[in-house]
Amino acid sequence: MNIILLGPPGSGKGTQAQKLQRDRGMVQLSTGDMLRATVASGSALGQRAKAVMDAGEYMPDDVMIGIIAERIAQPDCAKGFTLDGFPRTVVQAEGLDRMMAQKSLTLDTVIEFKVDESALVERISGRYTCAGCGAGYHDKFQCPAKPGICDICGGTEFKRRTDDRAETVQARLDKYNEQTAPILPYYAAKGILRAVDGMADIDEVYRQIVKILG
Ligand code: AMP
Repeated sequence: MNIILLGPPGSGKGTQAQKLQRDRGMVQLSTGDMLRATVASGSALGQRAKAVMDAGEYMPDDVMIGIIAERIAQPDCAKGFTLDGFPRTVVQAEGLDRMMAQKSLTLDTVIEFKVDESALVERISGRYTCAGCGAGYHDKFQCPAKPGICDICGGTEFKRRTDDRAETVQARLDKYNEQTAPILPYYAAKGILRAVDGMADIDEVYRQIVKILG
């Protein structure tokens, strides 16, 4: 099964994509994570990506379509994948349709995370991840069972994203409303758009997703 999780930054897409990967083997394809890995590599593309991401802007569509086309051609994606953070524009959605048709892949469902935008700044500014395995946590909403120790890998190093600073978050939300929300009618017209309550707790959102996927 191949699906898209669609919602503004901080709506919980990454958390749910990680759960789907752990429980159902669906590979999480997070373009944000891919770009952060490119930034960490220090390449020319990484330097460009860092400036774009820290400003809350989007990377060019052709670059992102190229990155995803290469990734979904990898053998692990044959088990099914969850797109998290892609597509972010109608041009990317059209590019995805073309590349999936070329590979005879089907897009089964697009799940919209419905959220109250005013809650997102608090959600985003409190979040952090394990530096070892990437598991996601939050200062208030999702602490590790043992303070300072990752539930998944036992790691003790954690990190925060530089674009999760309050001053960048509003730019990212504006960008979502301008460029990404217009994708919703695109998928509604195809009859594959579903929605979950992104304000519910993590387990409840997951239950709603599982119900949709069957
Ligand atoms: P995310 O981790 O999904 O919140 O992405 C972090 C940042 O990476 C975004 O704010 C964008 O600057 C960039 N980015 C991630 N995915 C895309 C995409 N599909 N198109 C353009 N820019 C992207």
